[in-house]
Amino acid sequence: MTEMIKGRFSKKVLIPVLILSLLVSMSSVLAIMVRAEEAPVLPTFDIPALTQEQVASPKPNVIVVATGGTLAGQATNGDKASFQSYRAGTYTMADLVSQLPIHKNADVSTYQFGNKGSGGYTMKELYDLSLAVDAALEIYDGAVVTTGTDTMEEIAYFLDLTVRSEKPVVVTGAMRPWDVVGTDGPANLYQAIKVAGSGKTTWFGTVVMLNDVIFAAREVTKTNSHRMDTFDAPMFGALGYVDDPAVRIYRAPARAFKAGTPEWATPFDLKTISKDNLPLVGIVYNYQEASGGAIRGLVEDGVKGIVTAGTGAGGISSGLSAARTSAMTNNNVIFVSTTRTGSGSVYGGSGNTVAGDNLNAAHARIMLLLSLAFSGDVNVIRGWFQSFGTADVDISVDADTVLRTSVEEEPALPEVEAPVVTAPIPGTEEPATTDPAGEESPAATEETEVEQETVATP
Ligand code: ASP
Repeated sequence: MTEMIKGRFSKKVLIPVLILSLLVSMSSVLAIMVRAEEAPVLPTFDIPALTQEQVASPKPNVIVVATGGTLAGQATNGDKASFQSYRAGTYTMADLVSQLPIHKNADVSTYQFGNKGSGGYTMKELYDLSLAVDAALEIYDGAVVTTGTDTMEEIAYFLDLTVRSEKPVVVTGAMRPWDVVGTDGPANLYQAIKVAGSGKTTWFGTVVMLNDVIFAAREVTKTNSHRMDTFDAPMFGALGYVDDPAVRIYRAPARAFKAGTPEWATPFDLKTISKDNLPLVGIVYNYQEASGGAIRGLVEDGVKGIVTAGTGAGGISSGLSAARTSAMTNNNVIFVSTTRTGSGSVYGGSGNTVAGDNLNAAHARIMLLLSLAFSGDVNVIRGWFQSFGTADVDISVDADTVLRTSVEEEPALPEVEAPVVTAPIPGTEEPATTDPAGEESPAATEETEVEQETVATP
């Protein structure tokens, strides 16, 4: 009797336990299979290792990741006055860097990612470029990325939103090919390396530097088809400048205030998605009596998102409006409203329409494309546009915040009775003296001058 009860009991317990463990092991096998299927195949890059000399050198190590453009352009028939007729993306970066003077502020390496005009790059190639930059920054202290100027603002913003490293990424290019008189290529390349080597844009995300002016990737735009000072940041202006003696930064992008916190990183970690996840996203320009054809055509092409460059504060025609409603309702297309004016913000947005703040249409397209690659939920995307897309400054301090100065304590004066010889007084052969009471000679004061800087730390 007891044996029977025991037998029944063990069957009762054992069978469900067996079934449960079978289910658990099946589900973990399934999970592994799903993960294996989802894990993107990531590209690898032949980033040059640091040489012995570079490791031993006190200079920062900067890598130039080259993609081509006019900077690497060769004038037609060797005509040194051929400003407009040239083949973009011709010279290799190793060749160009070897023609620069030995850099005063950095040891320089190169990585040839590609060699063509900026407009020739696909979004999938930009995915690779971003991962190449991050791979390079695992070794180097800063990266310069050379690109053509035509779509530089899009490439730079794509890098800004996707590169995971906090190290400096400086995008540069040129308006004149490398080998014409008055070319801006060599100076831009030299100065961009200087900015990257200075480390001053660490935590800034990607910046663009041409013509000695440094801009935030989110804000910069090409404003003129030919002039060398074509880049500008309407509404915002420059972040800083690079001159011969110094790289000066006068303001920081909003994101730099989140340095060192998890909020600094965007949600767009390309290592977690396949490049096939990058969807088609288009731009439609509004104008007097614009028809809805542009939207209908893009929908037919299979776009998942459309940015409208509206008039004024983002207005679109009744034709475009009807086509937008249909695309939202029937095709679940997500729209971002921007303005065609060249500056100013667009607010509001509901349902499948998101406001683009003051992103220009090209920038908003990059932001929407990445957002759609990581989420299909319009409310999540709206949140990303309001945070990472809008990027307004929001500084909060708590009770524990302490202010401290980065200036090091002055070293204590040596405890000696006799005067200490420091340096000759300019214009005399007499050595300057510092008396034990601490009164310094003018020469000594000059030598010990330090830059003061105050920073807040959490
Ligand atoms: N067509 C060139 C490009 O964008 C122009 C330039 O490099 O400035 O690649």
